[in-house]
Amino acid sequence: MEDRSPCAECEHTRKIFTFLRGFRLFSPREWGTGPPSTLTCVNSDAPWMRTARSAGLVSADGTVRTTIFAEMSALAAQHGAINLGQGYPDDDAPAVVLETAVEAIRAGINQYPPGRGFADLRHAIAEHQQRFYGLKLDPETEVLVTAGATEAMAASLLAFAGPGDEVITLEPFYDAYAAVIGLGGARHVTIPLGEPQFQPTSAAIDAAFSDRTRVVVLNSPHNPTGSILAPEHVERIVALAAQHDAVIVSDEVYEHLVFNGRRHTPVAATPGAAERTLTVSSAAKTFSVTGWKIGWVTGPAALIDAVIGVKQWLTYVNGAPFQGAVAAGLRLPDAFFDELRDTMQRRRDLLAAGLVDAGFVIAPTAGSYFIVADGSDVGLGDAAASARSLAVDPGVVAIPLSAFGRAGGTVSDTALRFAFCKPDDVIAQAVTRLQSLRR
Ligand code: PMP
Ligand code: GLN
Repeated sequence: MEDRSPCAECEHTRKIFTFLRGFRLFSPREWGTGPPSTLTCVNSDAPWMRTARSAGLVSADGTVRTTIFAEMSALAAQHGAINLGQGYPDDDAPAVVLETAVEAIRAGINQYPPGRGFADLRHAIAEHQQRFYGLKLDPETEVLVTAGATEAMAASLLAFAGPGDEVITLEPFYDAYAAVIGLGGARHVTIPLGEPQFQPTSAAIDAAFSDRTRVVVLNSPHNPTGSILAPEHVERIVALAAQHDAVIVSDEVYEHLVFNGRRHTPVAATPGAAERTLTVSSAAKTFSVTGWKIGWVTGPAALIDAVIGVKQWLTYVNGAPFQGAVAAGLRLPDAFFDELRDTMQRRRDLLAAGLVDAGFVIAPTAGSYFIVADGSDVGLGDAAASARSLAVDPGVVAIPLSAFGRAGGTVSDTALRFAFCKPDDVIAQAVTRLQSLRR
């Protein structure tokens, strides 16, 4: 029988609580939710605690924090700071995308869509993969619409990795991966990316694989570093995944934000990869609709069936009136995608120049929304502390890079991630504020 008694610490607090209540010194309301129970014990291995711990959200004193994005956006709102933390654009989606959604709501497309998503969107996703990358997909069996890339990642990881299994990610990594790996009970193994190019070494790639490797998560363009994984590394990872019969889950939400004249190459286009790769993307960054939560995952029918096996118990389906709108977006002419990329590249250049001018040392950004910058030269030390103080003075919010790594890992303690998906004047104002750090 599993031991379900509270841990010593909780038992102690509970005794104090019961004692004080006996004297009517405190009402349960003043204790918030009351004394700790086994379910809420911070020392427990309850799935929610395992998840929080895996994402690095449990403080030394046992308090469980929200995600770094929620925390920093709240801080920005509280102090009226310019929010270059959470990566969401201030721009709106193209008019045709917005209008299609509004019309769909008015036309009554407000009930459950089919489990795999509306056929129109699945076809548009398949057409998009063919048009941009020459990848052929069967929209009936090889495409699944999800509640954002977040659900696509969660369902894919939970479908294939459980207790006793290992999941490899790059490090730094997008926080949700660690959380879901922990929820599923698998072990998280990382391939460190070295500054300033944020590429792995071949030795680190080789060392990450073992007989227990079930899933390899790739993410390029990369959040939080803005790097693009070099083809030789992708090829090496694909070969090792094949050797270990592991599934590759490739998060490509920044596929249309690749700069300097380069073009995105999906991992699934690498020889030998397609048969074991699930490719994840989302409308959020391509159409500036992060609140719509329409994502998708594509790959071999058998892998997609496995993902549906989990996904249908998470949200079942979502976003009926938004699905046709995203299909319209995916069918927009090349000029739309070119303009999005050019706009973001200009903003990257603006922010990069401004950060350098303000005394930061920056890493190159090849894609995504983000620049990694180190403020040691302007007196910023620990990034977790300086991110909080910068929100107050000079009033700019960034995310500490350490939030994307593990305690004791290889991620810098002093680097910050700045998002440049903001209008030029907002970036310029943020830069002016940051320049005050030099004085
Ligand atoms: N993966 C990465 C790398 C991200 O940066 C984000 C944030 N857009 C997501 C997944 C989540 O995407 P969505 O909002 O579509 O769930
Ligand atoms: N993807 C966004 C980022 O990295 C944030 C998503 C979130 O808030 N969970 O900034």
